[in-house]
Amino acid sequence: MKIALIAHDGKKADMVHFLSGFKEQLNHSDIELVATGTTGSHIEKAGFKVQRLLSGPLGGDAQIASMAAQKELDMVIFFRDPLDKHPHEPDVQMLMRICDVHNIPLATNPAAAGLMFQQLTSRLKS
Ligand code: PGA
Repeated sequence: MKIALIAHDGKKADMVHFLSGFKEQLNHSDIELVATGTTGSHIEKAGFKVQRLLSGPLGGDAQIASMAAQKELDMVIFFRDPLDKHPHEPDVQMLMRICDVHNIPLATNPAAAGLMFQQLTSRLKS
């Protein structure tokens, strides 16, 4: 299972906090994490193994969209900051569209991501 992680700057601390609540599950050998560049470095510092792509504004969101289009992802967690402007907004929209095209679970806030991770946890146990 491959999970993509992205957080806008105002949400990076939320992402690390969220993941820390699922540390044991995410260190499971069946789970691979991939993230945009800066998000990935925060996640790495928090002690997770993660594949880092380009930074979002430099094409990282587009790389994740490409992986989603090729059905290489099982889940996308994207903590967007709705109170800030982003130069790469077109890439953000594209990523969300591609997730919908390919029916890939996409959570854009911790409440939704928590529900998805609970489901994941129960699958890992069974
Ligand atoms: P970043 O990109 O992890 O490199 O900051 C995230 C984004 O803003 O899309």
